[in-house]
Amino acid sequence: MKAITVTPRVPYSTALRDIPEPAIDEAPDGRGVVVKVLRVGLDGTDKEIHAGEYGGPPPGADFLVLGHEGLGIVEAIGAGVVELAVGDYVVSIVRRPGGSLYDAIGLADFTSDDTYHEHGINLLHGFLTERYVEEPERLVKVPGPLRAGGVLLEPTTVVEKGIAQAFEIQRRLKVWHPRRAAVMGAGTIGLLAAAVLRVRGLDVTVFGLEEAPYLNSDLVEATGARYVSTRRTSLADAAAMFGPFDLIFEATGFSPLVFEAMGVLGRNGVLVLSSVTGGDRRVEVAADALNLGFVLGNKVMVGTVNASRENFEAGVKDLAMASALWPGWLERLLTHKVDGLTNCLQAFELLGAPGVIKVFVEVASLD
Ligand code: BGC
Ligand code: ZN
Repeated sequence: MKAITVTPRVPYSTALRDIPEPAIDEAPDGRGVVVKVLRVGLDGTDKEIHAGEYGGPPPGADFLVLGHEGLGIVEAIGAGVVELAVGDYVVSIVRRPGGSLYDAIGLADFTSDDTYHEHGINLLHGFLTERYVEEPERLVKVPGPLRAGGVLLEPTTVVEKGIAQAFEIQRRLKVWHPRRAAVMGAGTIGLLAAAVLRVRGLDVTVFGLEEAPYLNSDLVEATGARYVSTRRTSLADAAAMFGPFDLIFEATGFSPLVFEAMGVLGRNGVLVLSSVTGGDRRVEVAADALNLGFVLGNKVMVGTVNASRENFEAGVKDLAMASALWPGWLERLLTHKVDGLTNCLQAFELLGAPGVIKVFVEVASLD
């Protein structure tokens, strides 16, 4: 069967190749689920792997099958599978447990191991192929009516984990009812963060570089959030108008903004950092003032990566809420569809281009 593979760390080695069909008994005890891949979303991580900056092959292999944002349909199940049935739509959890205590309790996203195992990213093949076999505990069911937006579940889980962390941390405040949130960045993660926070009833301000109106600002406003272009209004001015922010979700991919966000976080607030920044940027910051604000304001800053099963399940619920509240909204994020694995290389050209929100490969038809 066909797959899109890279030779990790070799720039632009991405290619279509034939790999063996997976066997249902790859999973022990009759627990195999054969998933036929339907849609796979691509993001900045895929772009980095494509450019040879990131990623590693499975042990013994000299290539990696790309793709970690996969929606599929169950094609066959082993005799020991009761949780799923043929015809169910599913999304696979990205990270597999390693050896740490956190991995053992179902929180591989909190692994304290040095290496982590992530489908399509590091040490495990991904989903840009025709079929894969997985165990049911690693598959999350997506209701049929949500299937068109189901390819957005994995990025949504990154948002879910970040927001769940904020609420978990804020239990320190006994009665935390956040009212105002800011989202930095209006890309896929920023838009999904805005939606999840709007579903929870917060007043949300989304900061992006571009000036409104454009698709992303329209999508922000469709959720009832407000869009602010940092070209027109500084973060400090916007915070004076729309803050203080109880929660800030940073998802710009531009690390200097973290320090600006620290400066506009409200008292007792929490700043969630989700940008994976591989560079080596340096900036000068108002260290005393930022530190003082954090100390006297009891503020928290927390990094977040990946997601656990619980976050996937929360993501399904929020995607359902978003579809009910704003029909067609999720589909509007899916700006660029590439037909079939054979055309997949085109998809990499689109990543990060103007007007592009989510690029996905339609590996097989949804219906
Ligand atoms: C993925 C996460 C992953 C992270 C780091 C992101 O693009 O969505 O699941 O943990 O990259 O590899
Ligand atoms: Zn992703």
